Amino acid sequence: MAISKTDFMRGMQCPKMLWLDKHRPALKVIPEETRRKLDAGTDFGDRAMGMFGPYEEMTVYRPGTRIPDTAAMVRRTLEHLEAGTPVICEAAFSNYNNYCAVDILRKTESGYDFYEVKNSPKVDPQFVRDAGFQYYIMARCKVKIGKIFIVIHGPDEEDPFVPVDVTKEAKGYYRWINDNIWDLNRMQKQGEEPETEPGDRCSDPYECWYYGYCHSPRREQLSRIARNETHLNALRRALSRPGAGPQELSSVRERAEALSRYLESEDWKQDFADDEAGLLPGWLRRGVLSEDGIYNVLEEYGERMGMR
Ligand code: SF4
Repeated sequence: MAISKTDFMRGMQCPKMLWLDKHRPALKVIPEETRRKLDAGTDFGDRAMGMFGPYEEMTVYRPGTRIPDTAAMVRRTLEHLEAGTPVICEAAFSNYNNYCAVDILRKTESGYDFYEVKNSPKVDPQFVRDAGFQYYIMARCKVKIGKIFIVIHGPDEEDPFVPVDVTKEAKGYYRWINDNIWDLNRMQKQGEEPETEPGDRCSDPYECWYYGYCHSPRREQLSRIARNETHLNALRRALSRPGAGPQELSSVRERAEALSRYLESEDWKQDFADDEAGLLPGWLRRGVLSEDGIYNVLEEYGERMGMR
């Protein structure tokens, strides 16, 4: 489990938020408006790749998916740095498993400048902290970084890419990141959910996607359902890999066993009954409360593992 830029910023807003991202993602509710903003930001970032002319893009996907293969991206980036490629987009770096990707690296006489693209009319303080995190990882990977720019969305739609120099401020975050990243790394791996009480942090600087969960009187039950939902999703993903046999599927064995115990437990009966009675919140993902759904997945898993 690595810490990415997003992980770090979310963990600094609230440790529990980061822990839930890693252990109970099924409790996450992303507002539609946030999704739209993220999509628009991706489009703007894609267009910005060509702002300095020809470029090499480092994105590599895992076979048959749209999931980035970060290890392959890191290797590819290293090759291009060694070759002195003038403009590198989506450059990826990893240091002790802490990870970042950078929108644009542009070669200079002494190293590289980097440009982080934001679909925003102004530089938000959070953007500078993000750039500080990227600088931290690259500096630890021994990449010589000169200037750091946030590229904002200017008023001229013909040429909307406006770089703003934030070098001094972004580099100034190095120590703050180093002082916190290792604690967050340890915390995200722990088995127990952190006991963080809701408060101002739930909306500052961003609205938290776990608000519904943390403010519910049924937290324990929701957490249990989400834990099993995560097991179910992992099993489905593993089974969807073409040709996956016992060896490949053994990585999700513990999840299958946990799911099987849940299906036979009093907890499952209670959760199912509460769902039938309309007592669970509408936003909750609850594939595990469909008896056929969970049963079919466990059956297929058993067959593919040669257990049936
Ligand atoms: S709702 Fe508040 S307490 Fe809960 S994870 Fe989010 S920020 Fe933390």
